[in-house]
Amino acid sequence: MTEDNRASPAELLHLRGRALEKGEPIALPLTLASMYHLPGDPAGYASYGRSDNPTWEACEKMLGHLEGAEAVLFPSGMAAITAPFLALLSAGDRVLLPSDGYYTTRLLADRILAKLGVTFDRRPTAAFAEGGFEGYRLVFVESPSNPGLDLCDIAEVAGQVRSSGGLTIVDNTTMTPFGQRPLNLGADIVLASDTKAPGGHSDLLMGHVAARDAGLIAALRDWRKISGTIPGPFEAWLLHRSLETLELRFDRMCRTAGTVAERLAVHPSVKAIRYPGLPGDPAHNLAARQMQRSGFLVGLTLASGAAAEAFIAACPFLRPATSFGGVHSSAERRDRWGDAVAPGFVRLAIGCEPLDELWPALDRTLAAAD
Ligand code: PLP
Repeated sequence: MTEDNRASPAELLHLRGRALEKGEPIALPLTLASMYHLPGDPAGYASYGRSDNPTWEACEKMLGHLEGAEAVLFPSGMAAITAPFLALLSAGDRVLLPSDGYYTTRLLADRILAKLGVTFDRRPTAAFAEGGFEGYRLVFVESPSNPGLDLCDIAEVAGQVRSSGGLTIVDNTTMTPFGQRPLNLGADIVLASDTKAPGGHSDLLMGHVAARDAGLIAALRDWRKISGTIPGPFEAWLLHRSLETLELRFDRMCRTAGTVAERLAVHPSVKAIRYPGLPGDPAHNLAARQMQRSGFLVGLTLASGAAAEAFIAACPFLRPATSFGGVHSSAERRDRWGDAVAPGFVRLAIGCEPLDELWPALDRTLAAAD
């Protein structure tokens, strides 16, 4: 960790190299293995591909470094979200979820977990710290929330949940560990979809869960091994490679997003904007307290759904796609999936294009779409 509480990118790049024996490759080998050479007593050795893989382990080491905790890799962000629920909950437990975060988390609760006798309540992210946490076994936070970009005070929530005897989980997908470190704010578990900025090239799905409590980590590893919810070694290898450039990409994306947001805020075609880095944003003060960066997602509302679709379709440097965090800027109208947003609301995910090429394209296309 650096002096200002950020994960160290230099340490990250040398984690593997420092542990190498003479003659070993600097780059991580991809290990495709279901069986391991295992004569006699198996204790302490890799035994089977569902429980052990050196490529996963190298990836988990990097994620663990970034989170300042032990990390467990999962084959998608949703698998990472599902794991603590199924590993830690019993029938009769109560869970608090955001009413406005990533919608598949709510589907998981409604369609799968409710059938197992777990009850769920919901609360908007912006008011999450209000209303108490008594009786909740798990409290699940997503901040900034996708797609609305509302924030909740993670330290406040985690403190209250702990005094009520529950555990706080934070979905940190929209920020990455370079933008926010929820475990340092008091959360018990942090998880994320590494499909987004950590993967960064729109070619893999992956997720991870990290915690500092050895019992929680053991429960998660046990769940993964027994359920078989395991990542593919090749995807883990791709993610490992991508993590080496995460800080570089994330820094560019956040800087560009900050300038783009400032310019969009005064653009005549933009009716409303959300970006935690803007001084006028309702979450700005909280963002400045708990986040190291303001992120690469910008929420902008145009005059109508048609104007939003025209903007997305016409901009040469925007891919019309769901998901975010890739090197290519992308955008989508979230109303098309039924999110509780205005028809003209666009989730703009800034990528790695140079600002001096991206901004003129956004500016021109916005004006034409109005
Ligand atoms: N959490 C958040 C905040 C997300 O936005 C997403 C996907 O968009 C997920 C979790 C799920 O990740 P995945 O698609 O890798 O399963």
